[in-house]
Amino acid sequence: MEIQYFEFLKHLFRFNRHVYLDNNATTPLSSHVQSKMNHALKHHFGNPSSFYGAGRRSAEAMEQARKQVSQVIHADPSEVIFTACATESNNAVLKSVAAHFYPRKKKIVSTPIEHPSVLNTLAYLKTQGVIVENCPVDHQGHVLLAELEKRVDDETFLVCCMLANNETGVIQDLKAVTKIARQHGALVLTDCVQALGKIPIDVHAWGVDYASFSAHKLYGPKGIGALYIKEGSPFTPLLHGGHQESGMRAGTESVHNIIGFGAACEEADKLLAHAEQTRALKRQLIQQLKEIKPDCIINSPEAESECLPNTISITFPGVENAGLMGILDYRGIAVSAGSACSTGEDAPSHVLKAIGLSDQAARETIRISLGQHTSAQDIRYMTRVVKDYLEDRTPFVNMLAPAQLNENVLFDKNTFILDVRPPDDRKRFKGLPNSHEVDPLRVEKYIRQLPKEKQILVYCPGGGLSVMISYYLKAKGFKRVTNLRGGLDSWRKRRSDLYQKYAGQNVTVLQPDSAEGVR
Ligand code: PLP
Repeated sequence: MEIQYFEFLKHLFRFNRHVYLDNNATTPLSSHVQSKMNHALKHHFGNPSSFYGAGRRSAEAMEQARKQVSQVIHADPSEVIFTACATESNNAVLKSVAAHFYPRKKKIVSTPIEHPSVLNTLAYLKTQGVIVENCPVDHQGHVLLAELEKRVDDETFLVCCMLANNETGVIQDLKAVTKIARQHGALVLTDCVQALGKIPIDVHAWGVDYASFSAHKLYGPKGIGALYIKEGSPFTPLLHGGHQESGMRAGTESVHNIIGFGAACEEADKLLAHAEQTRALKRQLIQQLKEIKPDCIINSPEAESECLPNTISITFPGVENAGLMGILDYRGIAVSAGSACSTGEDAPSHVLKAIGLSDQAARETIRISLGQHTSAQDIRYMTRVVKDYLEDRTPFVNMLAPAQLNENVLFDKNTFILDVRPPDDRKRFKGLPNSHEVDPLRVEKYIRQLPKEKQILVYCPGGGLSVMISYYLKAKGFKRVTNLRGGLDSWRKRRSDLYQKYAGQNVTVLQPDSAEGVR
């Protein structure tokens, strides 16, 4: 293999540490869960609705998992159904409760910091006539109970309030929320997705009517959720079909995933016991980041009982999160700018805006979420990379927001547009006008054709690969390298007018340099 190519791959895949600090987005499968699932895939293939032995064995294993989940949340197994994900659980409750009450009662009171699976379902219900009111939160995201009291009235059929927020980690006082709802006969839905495995859950003690959960946030598999429905609370299925899940959720159950969810819950106590260790690492990280950037702002609640043990939302004034995340990624560290569901979009996080951050401050904020595998070395490494970046010891790659990519940039004579998209994306979507297409896995073969005196604007479908290639070009001596944040996908959505008008115009396909040329 040519040395040049090897060096390029080394840059691209960075043979250095990998530190995963985005555990609120998802978690790796635990080995215990994996072995239970492997066993299930092999031995529990029977359809749990079938009466013969193989079916009965699957049904039995599934009921065992239901017990494990219900134990952790302090519910009765008969009150728990399995769904495909927490998004489905939230959709099912909101739509079914609205259908039950509307138009007799018209109002849902919610919070502005809910997950998109709640927010967007509420937006849909609004189009059907339901009145949705948001209760304000304070600068740390606590629901203002006095404001909630003002909004919940006899017209209100549901109060919707997440237990713990995915971006800041703020924990709500659910008992108080339920008390206010009950005074007016309203039901309560709580999204407990981020809380499960991090803080104790007791749906009976809180008195809520519905609660949603997802296995992949506590080292279980993706694509499996659970829904707690308090005995006697109204519910009509979202999916119609067979009579699975006591007629509450049609569709053959995903037995191996359900068993995986149960196995993850078996380890919940261990996770809860580990929380203190995680909290200590979180404290260390905050302290170290404050030392290197004293004006940084922690958006998560300071009181430890009011915040998830693993979550930090932190603003670095004057430091764009896209650039910081780019260098962190380049150094093998995964963090996020907001919820996983909104990454790829350039809009500032609705949660950060609701707690009072300006658009600019939201763009200077990252979320760090620790996990059970996070070590003190990981924390030190993260701090070192941030420090190097803040002290200009890392190459600087400019980040261009999709909204900023206008005609001036597209047709700027001093900008060289480099398309590093994979071939399948090029087949699906036309590229930026004046692009120069190269093979994204062999960029080193084109280096000599890239003008050093110009700004190189690099883009890929989502803005991830292009960041890495941008850093590679910096390392190769290109002075002005700009990455298109969110990639062509974001730009197409943000500037569909320009996309329609110019996409695909004047595209050049570069040919790789000959081997002799490179050497
Ligand atoms: N609710 C919250 C608070 C979440 O963080 C998430 C996932 O990011 C969800 C709901 C959706 O969960 P799922 O991925 O199972 O649909």
